[in-house]
Amino acid sequence: MSERVYNFSAGPGVLPEAVLKKAAEQMMNYDGSGMSVMEMSHRSKVYQSIIDGAEKALRELMNIPSNYKVLFLQGGASMQFAMIPLNLMKNGKADYVNTGEWSTKAIKEAQRFGDVKVVASSEPEVFNHLPSINENEFRADADYVHMTSNNTIFGTSFKKYPDVKGKPLVVDMSSDILSKVIDVNDFAMIYAGAQKNIGPAGVTVVIIREDLIGYARPETPTMLNYKTHADAGSMFNTPPTYGIYLAKLGFEHLLSIGGVPAIEKINVQKAAMLYDAIDNSKLFKCHVQNKEDRSIMNIPFRTDSEDFDKKFLAEAAKEGLVTLSGHRKTGGMRASIYNAMPVEGVEKLVAFIKKFDNEN
Ligand SMILES: *Cc1c(COP(=O)(O)O)cnc(C)c1O
Repeated sequence: MSERVYNFSAGPGVLPEAVLKKAAEQMMNYDGSGMSVMEMSHRSKVYQSIIDGAEKALRELMNIPSNYKVLFLQGGASMQFAMIPLNLMKNGKADYVNTGEWSTKAIKEAQRFGDVKVVASSEPEVFNHLPSINENEFRADADYVHMTSNNTIFGTSFKKYPDVKGKPLVVDMSSDILSKVIDVNDFAMIYAGAQKNIGPAGVTVVIIREDLIGYARPETPTMLNYKTHADAGSMFNTPPTYGIYLAKLGFEHLLSIGGVPAIEKINVQKAAMLYDAIDNSKLFKCHVQNKEDRSIMNIPFRTDSEDFDKKFLAEAAKEGLVTLSGHRKTGGMRASIYNAMPVEGVEKLVAFIKKFDNEN
């Protein structure tokens, strides 16, 4: 294929073309260093300026207060499922909200370390809505509350958070970080695998309030202790140097186009176009019916017939609309329209949905 396609992959997902071009330009010789970023010592001055630049740009984008550390780690969001209980379960108790596959995995992992209460769950209905949360269910002696902001597979997302009564609120924002304005002060810790809305796979961003660091259980491996990485500026060992560089390019690109408020407007517009097309069709329906629960990043939808779904996917691919298969738990299709998906990509998908609906 000679042309680039519109890639609706849930992750790793599409990256901004401007970022890929810049990386290509700088591939052989970064900023007069005579080498690729991939070849550089992470202890060099020039690399230090890259990781510092990544942190600075992210702090600016999210308005991160100075009492929060920004860490660039490895192991994916899935590694955080273990690091969180190891570091934050001081009394061995935590409360979780179960809104999808990733929440479920976080819960399972936390159960290895202590007493986990699931305060709300929408599992019986295949996570097709957000469960209502009774704030009285949060335990007074829980060490933290864990939630998933955007449910990548099922297509729901929280627009507001429950009152957790001063408990640290820890949120997995892997699939919607930087997609909309949030107030970091509302959270004790935010984490995200990079491969959806930040950069390539291999980097995990952790934004953690300083007062939570330093209480890891004694058996916590050095590499799984937030203190290790906070004290060493994410350079205790070799960090994922090239991934952090690409994340920096991505953050700077987002700043250059107006930051999170600007991309939020575009994201809301893209999602509205797509939901309208699906809701107004005769063939297609969304996995998530409650409009207020719907994600602006991941949109699972389907027809009533597996044959139609297959036909849709095959014909869409011919038009350069790719990676639209749904997760096996929902079937059908899923369009992931992260920050880097251009409006034109969604317009083309919408036009294709309308055409397919008319013809079938
Ligand atoms: C993709 C995803 C994960 C898993 O991320 P890895 O980096 O592959 O471990 C976890 N949580 C959410 C919400 C995700 O979308």
